[in-house]
Amino acid sequence: MSAVFADLFRACLWLAAATALGWLLDGAPGALMAVLMIAVYLITRHLSRLAELIRWARQPVGTETPSASGLWEQAYDALRRRARLGAEQRDELGKLLDRFRQAAEVMPDGVVILDGHRNIEWMNARAELSLNLNSSRDLGTPITYFLREPEFLAYLVQSHPSGSLLLRSARSPGQTLQIQSAPFAAGRSLLLVRDVTQIQKLETMRRDFVANVSHELRTPLTVVAGFLETAADGIAELPPDDIHQFLEMAGDQAKRMQRLIEDLLTLATLETDAPPQEEAVDMPQLLAEVHSEAVALSGGRHTITLENIGPATLLGSYKELRSALGNLVSNAVRYTPSQGRIDLCWRSNAVGAVFAVNDSGIGIDIQHLPRLTERFYRVDRGRSRDTGGTGLGLAIVKHVLERHQARLEISSEPGKGSSFAAVFPGRRIQAGS
Ligand code: ADP
Repeated sequence: MSAVFADLFRACLWLAAATALGWLLDGAPGALMAVLMIAVYLITRHLSRLAELIRWARQPVGTETPSASGLWEQAYDALRRRARLGAEQRDELGKLLDRFRQAAEVMPDGVVILDGHRNIEWMNARAELSLNLNSSRDLGTPITYFLREPEFLAYLVQSHPSGSLLLRSARSPGQTLQIQSAPFAAGRSLLLVRDVTQIQKLETMRRDFVANVSHELRTPLTVVAGFLETAADGIAELPPDDIHQFLEMAGDQAKRMQRLIEDLLTLATLETDAPPQEEAVDMPQLLAEVHSEAVALSGGRHTITLENIGPATLLGSYKELRSALGNLVSNAVRYTPSQGRIDLCWRSNAVGAVFAVNDSGIGIDIQHLPRLTERFYRVDRGRSRDTGGTGLGLAIVKHVLERHQARLEISSEPGKGSSFAAVFPGRRIQAGS
């Protein structure tokens, strides 16, 4: 307000001075003329200031304000302050938006923002990956152009989509996506895209596993139950030979169930337990045990050799290694016809040490090799069962080796034989052993 008075005071001074001067020079007409001239001067000055302000306001944001004094200086100060506040607010909003984008970028799920016409407004990197999209190319395009599955279209047109949609899209072959739509302001909606392929696979594996175990138990249980029924009908009336045969069959089936349950428990322990305490495993002793087991299992039907030229100790779990190597050796015996040859060898190699079992058995077609360590995967189901297999041996081997940072190498030729090698890393070998 003081600036108003100051400017007014200054204008009055000018007018008074001009009036006095005009009066002195030409009396009343001179004074009137002087007042008029000063008034015109003052109005012209303010109008030119106003024109300058309009010119400045049309310049790009951030242009330096013209220099001014008095009221005009205050007007420019106020405008500068307002512009600064606006810029600060814009900065704040920009930072907020950046933070939101950064948060959306690191989200483990894909996020897509759709406008009221279902065009893609924005998406994070995870969404680009899951939906096979490209944000520099696909923004502004309707999402339905990329995801054309009828079930997706039906889900999207619901005004309040309930739950989520599981989608196997041609856009991301082999993947299962879980999509959830959440409508928000002005017809926009947020699509959350989660890749649930692994979860689905695990769920399928779990279902298959339960089905497999039930299937494996059904046959022996049927045999045992059948025998018990026959016995209940009057065992005394049966010929002794039949009773003996039934008992033998029931005993075999009980043993089969026992083996299966033991293998299942071993697998469960390997999958859930913490890595085993590391002990210095006495390899000559372990190899001798595995060799004797093979000889006993073979019952003289095979030639079985053992070559031990590897390290004397291996860091790991004796119990687990005994089970893994035992499985490899017993497989060799079970899948090698009589008169065949089985060679066990423990030796050092360039990176660590290898336990190899080479047999001259039936061999395995190459197409089966990648799946052999899957639970219950068998090349020949009948042969596996007849020789007392559970279909879990190599799954156990794989787990044990993984827990020892070792790997299983398999090579085989149908009709010629197979080689199973457990390759241990150097850090499992004790120095000087
Ligand atoms: P199983 O109890 O059926 O032997 P494994 O998991 O030990 O189960 O082995 C899986 C399958 O791999 C077997 O059913 C068999 O078909 C094949 N296999 C394993 N070892 C050998 C081998 N030495 N020679 C031929 N086939 C083998």
